Amino acid sequence: MDSLADRDRHYIWHPFTQMKDWMVVEPVIIESGNGAVLRDIDGKEYIDANSSIWTNLHGHRHPRITQAIKEQLDRIAHSSFLGLSNVPAIELAEKLVALTGLPRVFYSDDGSTAMEVAIKMALQFWRGKRTKFVAFTDAYHGDTMGAVSIGGIKLFHETFQPLTFPVTRVSRLEDLPAGEDVAAVCIEPVIQGAAGMRLWPVGMLRELRAWCDRSGALLIADEVMTGFGRTGKMFACEHEGVRPDLMALAKGLTGGYLPLAATLATEEIFSAFLGEYAEFKTFFHGHSYTGNQLGCAAALANLRVFEEERTLENLKPKIQDLKSHLSEFPVTRQCGFIGAVELGAYRLEEQMGIKVCRAMAERGVLTRPIGNVIVIMPPYCITGEQLTQIFRALAESIETVVG
Ligand code: PMP
Repeated sequence: MDSLADRDRHYIWHPFTQMKDWMVVEPVIIESGNGAVLRDIDGKEYIDANSSIWTNLHGHRHPRITQAIKEQLDRIAHSSFLGLSNVPAIELAEKLVALTGLPRVFYSDDGSTAMEVAIKMALQFWRGKRTKFVAFTDAYHGDTMGAVSIGGIKLFHETFQPLTFPVTRVSRLEDLPAGEDVAAVCIEPVIQGAAGMRLWPVGMLRELRAWCDRSGALLIADEVMTGFGRTGKMFACEHEGVRPDLMALAKGLTGGYLPLAATLATEEIFSAFLGEYAEFKTFFHGHSYTGNQLGCAAALANLRVFEEERTLENLKPKIQDLKSHLSEFPVTRQCGFIGAVELGAYRLEEQMGIKVCRAMAERGVLTRPIGNVIVIMPPYCITGEQLTQIFRALAESIETVVG
Protein backbone atom coordinates (compact mmCIF):
# COMPACT_ATOMS: atom_id res chain seq x y z
CA MET A 1 0.00 0.00 0.00
CA ASP A 2 2.71 2.42 -0.97
CA SER A 3 1.27 4.51 -3.77
CA LEU A 4 -0.36 7.83 -2.96
CA ALA A 5 -3.54 6.59 -4.67
CA ASP A 6 -3.70 3.56 -2.37
CA ARG A 7 -3.05 5.71 0.68
CA ASP A 8 -5.78 8.12 -0.41
CA ARG A 9 -8.23 5.24 -0.81
CA HIS A 10 -7.20 3.86 2.56
CA TYR A 11 -7.28 6.99 4.70
CA ILE A 12 -9.45 9.66 3.10
CA TRP A 13 -13.18 10.39 2.99
CA HIS A 14 -13.83 12.86 0.14
CA PRO A 15 -16.59 15.49 0.15
CA PHE A 16 -19.76 14.97 -1.93
CA THR A 17 -18.31 11.64 -3.09
CA GLN A 18 -19.72 8.11 -3.13
CA MET A 19 -16.62 6.47 -1.68
CA LYS A 20 -17.55 3.02 -3.00
CA ASP A 21 -17.21 4.38 -6.53
CA TRP A 22 -14.09 6.34 -5.58
CA MET A 23 -12.36 3.11 -4.57
CA VAL A 24 -12.47 1.69 -8.08
CA VAL A 25 -11.25 4.65 -10.11
CA GLU A 26 -7.73 5.98 -10.31
CA PRO A 27 -7.81 9.31 -8.44
CA VAL A 28 -6.33 12.43 -10.02
CA ILE A 29 -3.78 13.60 -7.46
CA ILE A 30 -2.76 17.20 -8.04
CA GLU A 31 0.80 18.20 -7.34
CA SER A 32 1.08 21.67 -8.84
CA GLY A 33 -0.69 24.28 -10.91
CA ASN A 34 -0.02 27.28 -13.08
CA GLY A 35 -2.54 29.69 -14.60
CA ALA A 36 -5.60 27.71 -15.64
CA VAL A 37 -3.69 24.42 -15.60
CA LEU A 38 -3.39 21.76 -12.89
CA ARG A 39 -0.69 19.09 -13.02
CA ASP A 40 -0.96 15.68 -11.37
CA ILE A 41 1.76 13.55 -9.79
CA ASP A 42 2.38 11.76 -13.10
CA GLY A 43 2.96 15.06 -14.88
CA LYS A 44 -0.36 14.94 -16.74
CA GLU A 45 -1.89 18.39 -17.27
CA TYR A 46 -5.53 19.34 -16.95
CA ILE A 47 -7.40 22.57 -17.53
CA ASP A 48 -9.16 23.64 -14.33
CA ALA A 49 -12.52 24.16 -16.06
CA ASN A 50 -14.49 24.83 -12.88
CA SER A 51 -11.85 27.01 -11.20
CA SER A 52 -11.36 24.46 -8.41
CA ILE A 53 -15.04 24.46 -7.48
CA TRP A 54 -15.69 28.10 -8.38
CA THR A 55 -12.91 29.62 -6.27
CA ASN A 56 -9.97 30.50 -8.52
CA LEU A 57 -10.06 33.78 -10.42
CA HIS A 58 -6.68 34.86 -11.82
CA GLY A 59 -5.15 31.40 -12.15
CA HIS A 60 -2.95 29.24 -9.98
CA ARG A 61 0.38 30.54 -8.72
CA HIS A 62 -0.31 34.11 -9.76
CA PRO A 63 2.94 35.87 -8.81
CA ARG A 64 1.17 38.80 -7.12
CA ILE A 65 -0.95 36.61 -4.81
CA THR A 66 1.80 34.06 -4.16
CA GLN A 67 4.20 36.85 -3.22
CA ALA A 68 1.67 38.51 -0.91
CA ILE A 69 1.12 35.25 0.98
CA LYS A 70 4.88 34.65 1.28
CA GLU A 71 5.48 38.18 2.55
CA GLN A 72 2.69 37.84 5.08
CA LEU A 73 4.06 34.47 6.18
CA ASP A 74 7.38 36.16 6.94
CA ARG A 75 5.54 38.47 9.35
CA ILE A 76 2.95 36.16 10.92
CA ALA A 77 0.55 33.45 9.74
CA HIS A 78 -2.22 33.92 12.25
CA SER A 79 -3.17 35.61 15.48
CA SER A 80 -6.60 35.67 17.05
CA PHE A 81 -9.20 38.24 16.01
CA LEU A 82 -10.97 37.87 19.34
CA GLY A 83 -9.84 40.90 21.30
CA LEU A 84 -7.07 41.68 18.78
CA SER A 85 -6.89 43.13 15.31
CA ASN A 86 -4.37 42.79 12.50
CA VAL A 87 -3.06 44.83 9.58
CA PRO A 88 -4.29 42.95 6.47
CA ALA A 89 -7.76 42.35 8.00
CA ILE A 90 -8.20 46.10 8.51
CA GLU A 91 -6.92 46.97 5.04
CA LEU A 92 -9.12 44.33 3.44
CA ALA A 93 -12.24 45.43 5.32
CA GLU A 94 -11.71 48.99 4.07
CA LYS A 95 -11.49 47.72 0.48
CA LEU A 96 -14.56 45.47 0.80
CA VAL A 97 -16.61 48.33 2.22
CA ALA A 98 -15.58 50.56 -0.70
CA LEU A 99 -16.45 47.83 -3.21
CA THR A 100 -19.85 46.82 -1.80
CA GLY A 101 -21.17 50.00 -0.20
CA LEU A 102 -21.90 47.99 2.95
CA PRO A 103 -20.12 49.56 5.91
CA ARG A 104 -19.29 46.64 8.25
CA VAL A 105 -17.25 43.48 7.69
CA PHE A 106 -17.47 40.33 9.81
CA TYR A 107 -14.90 37.68 8.87
CA SER A 108 -15.31 33.90 8.90
CA ASP A 109 -13.91 30.91 7.05
CA ASP A 110 -15.97 29.80 4.05
CA GLY A 111 -19.25 30.27 2.23
CA SER A 112 -21.23 28.24 4.72
CA THR A 113 -19.98 30.15 7.74
CA ALA A 114 -20.50 33.48 5.97
CA MET A 115 -24.15 32.50 5.54
CA GLU A 116 -24.44 31.19 9.12
CA VAL A 117 -23.22 34.59 10.29
CA ALA A 118 -25.73 36.41 8.07
CA ILE A 119 -28.63 34.28 9.34
CA LYS A 120 -27.65 34.68 12.98
CA MET A 121 -27.12 38.41 12.58
CA ALA A 122 -30.56 38.76 10.98
CA LEU A 123 -32.24 36.84 13.77
CA GLN A 124 -30.46 38.67 16.57
CA PHE A 125 -31.14 42.01 14.85
CA TRP A 126 -34.87 41.42 15.27
CA ARG A 127 -34.51 40.34 18.94
CA GLY A 128 -37.57 38.08 18.82
CA LYS A 129 -39.83 40.56 16.99
CA ARG A 130 -39.46 38.59 13.76
CA THR A 131 -38.21 35.03 13.39
CA LYS A 132 -39.41 33.82 10.00
CA PHE A 133 -36.90 33.14 7.22
CA VAL A 134 -37.80 32.93 3.56
CA ALA A 135 -35.64 31.10 1.03
CA PHE A 136 -36.00 29.78 -2.50
CA THR A 137 -36.66 26.36 -4.00
CA ASP A 138 -33.42 24.62 -5.00
CA ALA A 139 -31.33 27.17 -3.12
CA TYR A 140 -27.87 26.18 -1.93
CA HIS A 141 -26.09 28.17 0.75
CA GLY A 142 -23.64 25.66 2.25
CA ASP A 143 -23.47 22.56 4.42
CA THR A 144 -23.54 23.78 8.00
CA MET A 145 -26.93 23.48 9.70
CA GLY A 146 -28.16 27.06 9.29
CA ALA A 147 -27.17 26.98 5.65
CA VAL A 148 -28.81 23.56 5.26
CA SER A 149 -32.02 24.97 6.81
CA ILE A 150 -32.30 27.68 4.18
CA GLY A 151 -31.07 25.30 1.46
CA GLY A 152 -33.72 23.75 -0.76
CA ILE A 153 -32.01 20.90 -2.61
CA LYS A 154 -33.78 17.70 -1.59
CA LEU A 155 -30.86 15.39 -2.39
CA PHE A 156 -28.45 17.27 -0.13
CA HIS A 157 -30.73 18.61 2.57
CA GLU A 158 -33.63 16.24 3.22
CA THR A 159 -31.69 13.81 5.45
CA PHE A 160 -30.86 16.60 7.88
CA GLN A 161 -34.35 18.03 8.12
CA PRO A 162 -34.87 16.98 11.78
CA LEU A 163 -32.02 19.32 12.73
CA THR A 164 -33.10 22.31 10.67
CA PHE A 165 -35.19 25.36 11.56
CA PRO A 166 -38.42 25.97 9.61
CA VAL A 167 -38.17 28.12 6.51
CA THR A 168 -40.89 29.47 4.24
CA ARG A 169 -39.90 28.23 0.81
CA VAL A 170 -40.94 30.00 -2.35
CA SER A 171 -40.09 29.46 -5.99
CA ARG A 172 -41.10 32.89 -7.30
CA LEU A 173 -41.87 36.35 -6.01
CA GLU A 174 -45.65 35.85 -6.38
CA ASP A 175 -45.44 33.22 -3.62
CA LEU A 176 -43.85 35.50 -1.02
CA PRO A 177 -45.83 35.51 2.25
CA ALA A 178 -47.68 38.57 3.57
CA GLY A 179 -44.40 39.77 5.02
CA GLU A 180 -44.90 41.58 8.32
CA ASP A 181 -43.23 38.79 10.31
CA VAL A 182 -40.40 37.92 7.91
CA ALA A 183 -36.96 38.47 9.46
CA ALA A 184 -34.99 37.92 6.27
CA VAL A 185 -35.10 36.58 2.73
CA CYS A 186 -32.04 34.69 1.49
CA ILE A 187 -31.16 34.57 -2.18
CA GLU A 188 -28.37 33.66 -4.55
CA PRO A 189 -28.65 36.84 -6.61
CA VAL A 190 -29.12 36.65 -10.41
CA ILE A 191 -28.14 32.96 -10.66
CA GLN A 192 -28.64 29.87 -8.49
CA GLY A 193 -25.41 27.86 -8.63
CA ALA A 194 -25.87 24.38 -7.23
CA ALA A 195 -29.44 24.28 -8.58
CA GLY A 196 -27.79 23.81 -11.97
CA MET A 197 -26.77 27.37 -12.89
CA ARG A 198 -30.33 28.64 -13.16
CA LEU A 199 -30.84 32.31 -13.86
CA TRP A 200 -33.55 34.37 -12.19
CA PRO A 201 -35.70 36.49 -14.51
CA VAL A 202 -34.21 39.93 -15.17
CA GLY A 203 -35.57 42.42 -12.66
CA MET A 204 -36.45 39.77 -10.06
CA LEU A 205 -33.75 40.86 -7.61
CA ARG A 206 -34.84 44.49 -7.82
CA GLU A 207 -38.44 43.48 -7.17
CA LEU A 208 -37.36 41.35 -4.23
CA ARG A 209 -35.48 44.35 -2.82
CA ALA A 210 -38.65 46.44 -3.19
CA TRP A 211 -40.70 43.73 -1.43
CA CYS A 212 -38.18 43.70 1.44
CA ASP A 213 -38.38 47.49 1.67
CA ARG A 214 -42.18 47.33 1.85
CA SER A 215 -42.34 44.49 4.37
CA GLY A 216 -39.30 45.49 6.43
CA ALA A 217 -37.59 42.11 5.91
CA LEU A 218 -33.83 42.03 5.56
CA LEU A 219 -32.35 40.95 2.24
CA ILE A 220 -29.45 38.49 2.52
CA ALA A 221 -27.48 38.16 -0.73
CA ASP A 222 -25.35 35.05 -0.97
CA GLU A 223 -22.60 36.19 -3.35
CA VAL A 224 -20.36 33.26 -2.42
CA MET A 225 -20.33 31.99 -6.00
CA THR A 226 -21.28 35.15 -7.89
CA GLY A 227 -18.95 37.58 -6.16
CA PHE A 228 -15.69 38.95 -7.58
CA GLY A 229 -16.51 39.20 -11.23
CA ARG A 230 -18.04 35.80 -12.01
CA THR A 231 -21.19 37.29 -13.51
CA GLY A 232 -19.31 39.99 -15.41
CA LYS A 233 -19.72 42.63 -12.71
CA MET A 234 -17.84 42.72 -9.42
CA PHE A 235 -20.99 41.57 -7.59
CA ALA A 236 -24.18 40.08 -9.04
CA CYS A 237 -26.33 42.59 -7.11
CA GLU A 238 -24.83 45.36 -9.26
CA HIS A 239 -26.68 44.02 -12.32
CA GLU A 240 -29.92 45.27 -10.76
CA GLY A 241 -28.58 48.20 -8.74
CA VAL A 242 -29.49 46.41 -5.51
CA ARG A 243 -27.84 46.86 -2.15
CA PRO A 244 -28.65 43.97 0.18
CA ASP A 245 -28.75 44.34 3.97
CA LEU A 246 -26.32 41.46 4.44
CA MET A 247 -23.93 40.03 1.88
CA ALA A 248 -21.96 36.77 2.12
CA LEU A 249 -18.60 36.55 0.35
CA ALA A 250 -16.14 33.63 0.21
CA LYS A 251 -14.72 31.42 -2.59
CA GLY A 252 -13.14 34.07 -4.89
CA LEU A 253 -12.41 36.47 -2.03
CA THR A 254 -8.82 35.21 -1.83
CA GLY A 255 -8.64 34.51 -5.57
CA GLY A 256 -9.14 30.87 -4.63
CA TYR A 257 -5.91 30.60 -2.61
CA LEU A 258 -7.00 30.31 1.01
CA PRO A 259 -10.22 29.80 2.96
CA LEU A 260 -11.59 33.16 4.04
CA ALA A 261 -15.08 34.60 4.11
CA ALA A 262 -16.82 37.83 5.00
CA THR A 263 -20.35 38.85 5.86
CA LEU A 264 -21.03 42.52 5.19
CA ALA A 265 -23.77 44.41 7.01
CA THR A 266 -25.55 47.76 6.93
CA GLU A 267 -24.97 50.37 9.62
CA GLU A 268 -28.56 49.81 10.78
CA ILE A 269 -27.86 46.15 11.51
CA PHE A 270 -24.47 46.85 13.09
CA SER A 271 -25.78 49.57 15.37
CA ALA A 272 -28.60 47.32 16.63
CA PHE A 273 -25.92 45.24 18.33
CA LEU A 274 -24.47 48.20 20.25
CA GLY A 275 -25.30 48.72 23.89
CA GLU A 276 -24.00 48.48 27.44
CA TYR A 277 -22.18 45.20 27.99
CA ALA A 278 -24.83 44.11 30.49
CA GLU A 279 -27.52 44.37 27.81
CA PHE A 280 -25.80 41.40 26.13
CA LYS A 281 -26.41 42.66 22.62
CA THR A 282 -22.96 41.37 21.66
CA PHE A 283 -22.87 39.13 18.59
CA PHE A 284 -21.66 35.98 20.31
CA HIS A 285 -20.14 34.33 17.27
CA GLY A 286 -16.59 33.78 16.02
CA HIS A 287 -14.14 31.20 14.79
CA SER A 288 -10.58 30.37 15.72
CA TYR A 289 -9.29 31.57 12.35
CA THR A 290 -11.51 34.65 12.01
CA GLY A 291 -9.58 37.43 10.24
CA ASN A 292 -6.67 35.13 9.38
CA GLN A 293 -3.72 37.24 8.17
CA LEU A 294 -2.61 34.93 5.35
CA GLY A 295 -6.15 34.83 3.93
CA CYS A 296 -6.56 38.60 4.21
CA ALA A 297 -3.18 39.20 2.55
CA ALA A 298 -4.20 36.89 -0.31
CA ALA A 299 -7.55 38.71 -0.63
CA LEU A 300 -5.84 42.10 -0.76
CA ALA A 301 -3.51 40.85 -3.50
CA ASN A 302 -6.51 39.38 -5.34
CA LEU A 303 -8.21 42.79 -5.35
CA ARG A 304 -4.99 44.47 -6.46
CA VAL A 305 -4.82 42.11 -9.44
CA PHE A 306 -8.36 43.21 -10.42
CA GLU A 307 -7.10 46.80 -10.58
CA GLU A 308 -3.66 46.23 -12.10
CA GLU A 309 -4.78 43.77 -14.77
CA ARG A 310 -8.15 45.43 -15.41
CA THR A 311 -9.65 41.98 -14.97
CA LEU A 312 -13.31 42.88 -15.47
CA GLU A 313 -12.52 44.79 -18.65
CA ASN A 314 -10.44 41.93 -20.05
CA LEU A 315 -13.12 39.41 -19.13
CA LYS A 316 -15.68 40.96 -21.51
CA PRO A 317 -14.35 39.42 -24.77
CA LYS A 318 -13.87 36.10 -22.95
CA ILE A 319 -17.54 36.14 -21.94
CA GLN A 320 -18.39 36.56 -25.64
CA ASP A 321 -16.02 33.72 -26.49
CA LEU A 322 -17.77 31.51 -23.91
CA LYS A 323 -21.11 32.46 -25.46
CA SER A 324 -20.06 31.40 -28.94
CA HIS A 325 -18.73 28.05 -27.66
CA LEU A 326 -21.97 27.41 -25.77
CA SER A 327 -24.00 28.13 -28.92
CA GLU A 328 -22.65 24.88 -30.38
CA PHE A 329 -24.70 22.89 -27.84
CA PRO A 330 -28.49 22.48 -27.88
CA VAL A 331 -29.40 23.46 -24.30
CA THR A 332 -27.14 25.87 -22.43
CA ARG A 333 -27.23 28.71 -19.92
CA GLN A 334 -24.76 31.51 -19.35
CA CYS A 335 -24.26 34.28 -16.85
CA GLY A 336 -21.04 36.23 -17.30
CA PHE A 337 -18.18 33.74 -17.12
CA ILE A 338 -20.40 30.91 -15.92
CA GLY A 339 -21.43 28.39 -18.55
CA ALA A 340 -23.75 25.41 -18.17
CA VAL A 341 -24.46 22.67 -20.70
CA GLU A 342 -27.53 20.43 -20.21
CA LEU A 343 -27.03 16.82 -21.24
CA GLY A 344 -30.71 15.86 -21.21
CA ALA A 345 -33.32 14.40 -18.90
CA TYR A 346 -31.42 11.44 -17.48
CA ARG A 347 -32.15 9.86 -14.13
CA LEU A 348 -29.56 10.73 -11.49
CA GLU A 349 -28.78 7.01 -11.09
CA GLU A 350 -27.49 6.92 -14.65
CA GLN A 351 -24.68 9.26 -13.55
CA MET A 352 -24.52 10.80 -17.01
CA GLY A 353 -22.90 14.02 -15.79
CA ILE A 354 -20.32 12.10 -13.78
CA LYS A 355 -19.49 9.91 -16.78
CA VAL A 356 -19.11 12.89 -19.11
CA CYS A 357 -16.80 14.61 -16.61
CA ARG A 358 -14.74 11.43 -16.30
CA ALA A 359 -14.38 11.31 -20.08
CA MET A 360 -13.38 14.99 -20.06
CA ALA A 361 -10.71 14.28 -17.44
CA GLU A 362 -9.21 11.66 -19.77
CA ARG A 363 -9.01 14.46 -22.34
CA GLY A 364 -7.24 16.79 -19.92
CA VAL A 365 -10.17 18.89 -18.66
CA LEU A 366 -11.43 18.88 -15.08
CA THR A 367 -14.88 19.95 -13.96
CA ARG A 368 -17.74 18.58 -11.85
CA PRO A 369 -21.32 18.06 -12.96
CA ILE A 370 -24.50 19.11 -11.22
CA GLY A 371 -26.70 16.15 -12.12
CA ASN A 372 -27.06 16.35 -15.90
CA VAL A 373 -25.50 19.80 -16.12
CA ILE A 374 -21.85 20.25 -17.03
CA VAL A 375 -20.44 23.43 -15.52
CA ILE A 376 -17.80 25.37 -17.44
CA MET A 377 -16.46 28.29 -15.40
CA PRO A 378 -12.68 28.50 -15.77
CA PRO A 379 -10.32 31.02 -14.18
CA TYR A 380 -10.46 34.46 -15.82
CA CYS A 381 -6.87 34.07 -17.03
CA ILE A 382 -7.84 31.25 -19.41
CA THR A 383 -6.64 31.67 -22.99
CA GLY A 384 -8.84 31.39 -26.07
CA GLU A 385 -6.99 28.23 -27.04
CA GLN A 386 -7.59 26.63 -23.64
CA LEU A 387 -11.28 27.50 -23.80
CA THR A 388 -11.47 25.85 -27.22
CA GLN A 389 -9.73 22.81 -25.72
CA ILE A 390 -12.37 22.61 -22.94
CA PHE A 391 -15.25 22.66 -25.39
CA ARG A 392 -13.58 20.18 -27.72
CA ALA A 393 -13.18 17.79 -24.78
CA LEU A 394 -16.79 18.38 -23.77
CA ALA A 395 -18.17 17.73 -27.26
CA GLU A 396 -16.09 14.55 -27.67
CA SER A 397 -17.03 13.32 -24.20
CA ILE A 398 -20.74 13.86 -24.81
CA GLU A 399 -20.41 12.06 -28.13
CA THR A 400 -18.66 9.11 -26.46
CA VAL A 401 -20.81 8.84 -23.33
CA VAL A 402 -24.25 10.04 -24.37
CA GLY A 403 -24.01 9.31 -28.11
N1 PMP B 1 -23.35 29.67 -1.11
C1 PMP B 1 -23.25 29.40 -2.42
C2 PMP B 1 -24.10 30.19 -3.38
C3 PMP B 1 -22.38 28.41 -2.88
O1 PMP B 1 -22.32 28.14 -4.18
C4 PMP B 1 -21.60 27.70 -1.94
C5 PMP B 1 -20.63 26.61 -2.34
N2 PMP B 1 -20.78 26.03 -3.55
C6 PMP B 1 -21.73 28.01 -0.58
C7 PMP B 1 -22.61 29.01 -0.20
C8 PMP B 1 -20.94 27.29 0.47
O2 PMP B 1 -19.62 27.67 0.40
P1 PMP B 1 -18.48 26.77 1.07
O3 PMP B 1 -18.42 25.50 0.27
O4 PMP B 1 -17.25 27.60 0.93
O5 PMP B 1 -18.87 26.55 2.48
